[in-house]
Amino acid sequence: MSISRRGFLGSAVAASLATTLDAQRLNAQEKTISANSVPANPFGTGKRPIIICSKNGVNYLDDAFAFLKGGGDTLDAALRVVKGPEDDPNDDSVGLGGLPNEEGVVELDACCMHGPSRRAGSVGGVRNIKNVSLVSKAVMEHTGHVMLVGEGAERFAVAMGFPRENLLTERSRKIWLLWKEYNSNDDWWGPGLADPNWKAPAIPATSPQSELWERRIERLEQRAASLGIEPEFRRAAIRRVLSPPTGTIHCSALNDKGEISGCTTTSGLAYKLPGRVGDSPIIGAGCYTDQDVGSAGATGAGEENIKVAGAHTIVENMRHGMSPLEAGMDALRRIVRNYNGDMKKLNFIDMSYYILRKDGAYAGVSLWEGYAPDDRHKIAVHDGTRRLEDTVALLKGSSHEFPPFPVTIPAELKKDSVYLK
Ligand code: ASP
Repeated sequence: MSISRRGFLGSAVAASLATTLDAQRLNAQEKTISANSVPANPFGTGKRPIIICSKNGVNYLDDAFAFLKGGGDTLDAALRVVKGPEDDPNDDSVGLGGLPNEEGVVELDACCMHGPSRRAGSVGGVRNIKNVSLVSKAVMEHTGHVMLVGEGAERFAVAMGFPRENLLTERSRKIWLLWKEYNSNDDWWGPGLADPNWKAPAIPATSPQSELWERRIERLEQRAASLGIEPEFRRAAIRRVLSPPTGTIHCSALNDKGEISGCTTTSGLAYKLPGRVGDSPIIGAGCYTDQDVGSAGATGAGEENIKVAGAHTIVENMRHGMSPLEAGMDALRRIVRNYNGDMKKLNFIDMSYYILRKDGAYAGVSLWEGYAPDDRHKIAVHDGTRRLEDTVALLKGSSHEFPPFPVTIPAELKKDSVYLK
């Protein structure tokens, strides 16, 4: 395993990233907010009942909010939200249609915490079962365990009556094939960002940026056509090849009595190594709920979040008096601290937290403002009014997903609208 393998796509992004990326890094460094300052709180003071979630849950909030308001359980309300994207074959970050691992197999992770009964359930690396969030609830209710993984989790789900089904949609299969054909040796093997020997992709001084990219995109478009990817999805598919996406849904729900629960579900990092489990099913990382304090959940770079036990850190911060915004900013700073503030690495990481305190105060925070200037990170909220709000970012500017995404690529390639409603 050589370092150069992890510099994969290095050649792909190199030329186009050259000056722009360096300029952005410097820019970001200058604009990093200082260690102790917390930006003004743009979020409402919060009222109960309320549901918060990542933006891909926004279309499912109305039904869940009505259920919660009508006396429904807080965990069941949150699960209603995340079941929407799990069932949607066009959301390729969760459940059915989720982008697969490097072998073309969809593997899902999920967990949940029920505040009122102080219970938790979790499943990791589950194949062939779509609604893993509900399976995590079944683990909580029907076993003496908290976490089941892999084949055992799948067999448990089938025993509980969940149907086995093929989760790889034709569209996701074709995107995976396009990725496989295009990258050949370039994959997730090799040392990661946290390795002291990791090097940012080298920048060869060869072709002018635009020419290089035009050729690569042309080649990808030809391959996409030959794989039968519909013309209207080709550009979105190419984006998923050049920048293997993360994607997840977290949801926390609080009723008028102050009961609170949370859950998180995901297909994880696209083209991951088989068996890789991210932060989403880790109680305390992808989700944490404490009936005495509040609830938090995460989307983004799972490996980084596990190392700071993000959701638990945030809830503990609130327990000790921080506001949801302060608590989230502190967790993000711990990620920055793990890299000693090295923007060369932080540029390849992104992380968002969705935070709900027991009194209804809430916040959405992100390491960067968005994946691109026109693609801001959001938190979806329903407290009687359903809305999307920008998260508050610790660092100004856009992240570059790892592997890096070229900043000079045509704007339409950066848009998720084709896939995510
Ligand atoms: N956190 C998820 C994971 O690492 C991915 C994501 O949130 O986008 O598996």
